[in-house]
Amino acid sequence: GKRTFTMIKPDAVEAGHIGAILEQITASGFKIVALKMTQMATADAQEFYAVHNERPFFGELVEFMTRGPIVAAVLEKENAVEDFRALIGATNPEDAADGTIRKKYAKSVGENAVHGSDSDENAKIEASFHFAGREMF
Ligand code: ATP
Repeated sequence: GKRTFTMIKPDAVEAGHIGAILEQITASGFKIVALKMTQMATADAQEFYAVHNERPFFGELVEFMTRGPIVAAVLEKENAVEDFRALIGATNPEDAADGTIRKKYAKSVGENAVHGSDSDENAKIEASFHFAGREMF
């Protein structure tokens, strides 16, 4: 697959890391084909993360993802999903490799700076959740 979906999460937006994170993404060979700053409503976050709705951290996750603006983007590169997950690093920044986005910018397993789709199918679903067709280039 050639595309993945990402969000710069509220913690990283609050901390002023939008520019540095987008710079690292494009310097790593990803082309930005859609981009917007937006804020998820509670119902949006519940739907986006529905797969996690039985998990103990679900309420915390929805609170976190709705507490401020995010930056949503669609990224293009060969092998996009896998390469982007390598670039962001492990979910828990303590386990993330040196130089990864989460190692540099994430605070905790919950407030972990960025999202990256985990499959080509989810990348499509997640991109369409945030962007109309005419907003993706
Ligand atoms: P993402 O889907 O955001 O790229 P991921 O695939 O690395 O992250 P998942 O296991 O799918 O991680 O969890 C989704 C999100 O839920 C995490 O990115 C994190 O924000 C939150 N989360 C996961 N585990 C925990 C936890 N133990 N406590 C609090 N929040 C968590």
